[in-house]
Amino acid sequence: MREAERARRQAYAPYSDFPVGAALLTGDGTVVHGCNVENASYGLTVCAERNAVFQAVARGLENFVAIAVTAREGKGAPPCGSCRQVLHEFAPGMRVFWRDGRGRLAEETVDGLLPYAFVLKKEPKGKKKKVSA
Ligand SMILES: [Zn+2]
Repeated sequence: MREAERARRQAYAPYSDFPVGAALLTGDGTVVHGCNVENASYGLTVCAERNAVFQAVARGLENFVAIAVTAREGKGAPPCGSCRQVLHEFAPGMRVFWRDGRGRLAEETVDGLLPYAFVLKKEPKGKKKKVSA
């Protein structure tokens, strides 16, 4: 959560004035920061959680273990529906930490936050595809 708070300082949130930070932990101990980045065309805004996941994927990191998300002290910031779907794509069992409306630490798995995630039966192309020798 401390790492998420550090990430929040980089947020670009001039429209909502709701800066959010996320810290994604991978199995090898790497922590990837993400922050929300807003845009004058609101629909182009990206949340802190997706920002962290996309950066981790771009860096070739795998095995996401946990993600912490935080807004300002005392404001709850559980991942939005879009972020839950993106987190589920890579790590349905990953632990998610955030602060509830009173600033207390809350925890749930991605599966718990999104029990009926959209999943294509088709195996995605790319890294997840098994390559036979
Ligand atoms: Zn989101």
